[in-house]
Amino acid sequence: MSIEQISSKQIGKEANCNFCQAGITISFNWKYALENSKSDLPKNKDLYVNPIKLKKGTLFQCKSCGGHWYLDSDEQFMNHVKDEKLETIELWSNSGQKLSSEQVEALRLIGSTPPDLYGNGSKFTETPCEVRTKNGETFECAIVSIQSHAPFEDWRDYKLASEIESISVSRYALPLEVRLKTTQADEIRMGFAPTLVQLSNGKNIILNWTTNFLKLVGVETAETTVCSERVNTSNMPEIYQTNEKVVYFIADSGDHEAGASNKAFNEDTQKPSLLRKLKRLLGAH
Ligand SMILES: [Zn+2]
Repeated sequence: MSIEQISSKQIGKEANCNFCQAGITISFNWKYALENSKSDLPKNKDLYVNPIKLKKGTLFQCKSCGGHWYLDSDEQFMNHVKDEKLETIELWSNSGQKLSSEQVEALRLIGSTPPDLYGNGSKFTETPCEVRTKNGETFECAIVSIQSHAPFEDWRDYKLASEIESISVSRYALPLEVRLKTTQADEIRMGFAPTLVQLSNGKNIILNWTTNFLKLVGVETAETTVCSERVNTSNMPEIYQTNEKVVYFIADSGDHEAGASNKAFNEDTQKPSLLRKLKRLLGAH
């Protein structure tokens, strides 16, 4: 998925509602839907009722099925919200989720993972780390996600930054150099954007798309290095299968230093990505 998409849908599912298409449609480009009368996207503003202004963006309900939809503050995307996300969204909206200066500094030292070449991840500033919560729980595979939209994505296990007691280096987080390399990987075939790396045990393995964590028995993740040779597609090493459960701690964007410094970096990396995307759409290589 990428930021310029028109809509994302779940293939092989049936719509729970013929009006808003909940169950099939995960999100769609609201501006595009309103401006393009020929698109098959819901374009009737009257369908979305009971608006609730959140800290950022607006929560609606479908007039027909009562299902929830979230429109971001730029009014760019309408996103389906599962009922189980509503409690976290409400808590997020009714509170500040600022990181302490120590927490910002810990994230800065670890280094955030930028968006990929195609713009995926551009709505987040994410840093993989270990989080200890005020409840005394430890999450070894945590990502602090600085973002300005509600925690609606149902594929993310969200918690709030206000739950964080301390942030430290995760023993399962890949070094920044490796993470950066995975964000720069080209999609050489559908769904496959490989980065060849060497593990601490000397074995080579392929990381597919942006990868933050690696958890393998007998491997020191911090010692993973990027291989200089290209991926040999006729004799490929194993592709790493993610097996760790990641918890996302959502923090407000705005005045965090880590977010601000990363923004400049993101803008730099996104210019060529848009060009690439256009070239791909036009069939040029
Ligand atoms: Zn509906």
